[in-house]
Amino acid sequence: MCHKLCQCLIALAEPVAYKNQIRSLLTATPTMSDDIPTPVAKPADPAPDARVYVCHPEGWTAVVKQTSERLYCYQKNPGEDYFHLIVAGEIYLVFGDEKYCLMCALRRGDATQERLYWQHRRKGPLPTE
Ligand SMILES: [Zn+2]
Repeated sequence: MCHKLCQCLIALAEPVAYKNQIRSLLTATPTMSDDIPTPVAKPADPAPDARVYVCHPEGWTAVVKQTSERLYCYQKNPGEDYFHLIVAGEIYLVFGDEKYCLMCALRRGDATQERLYWQHRRKGPLPTE
């Protein structure tokens, strides 16, 4: 008769001892291999919300620059003495003859990334620089 079968028979004959054996296995102190941290699946960071809203959309157009011809934003960053070059593929905003990169439109308040902007609409005309 095999040894394992004998143990099984003993376990059946002595259920309390068998349960204690299982309990001791379950509560055993961890071994070295148990100390290795289990990699926890970190939830992927959600992509930042890059949506842009034009606060007063009447008269504004969003354009993707198609060509490599030189085109400059109508604004300068504070402290800079040059106009931004709008590059091919860049999305910019047009109001009449004026073209604005998204950064300037955001800085000027013509555009916003606040989805609920319409709940906090600014009263009065846009500031002119
Ligand atoms: Zn600009």
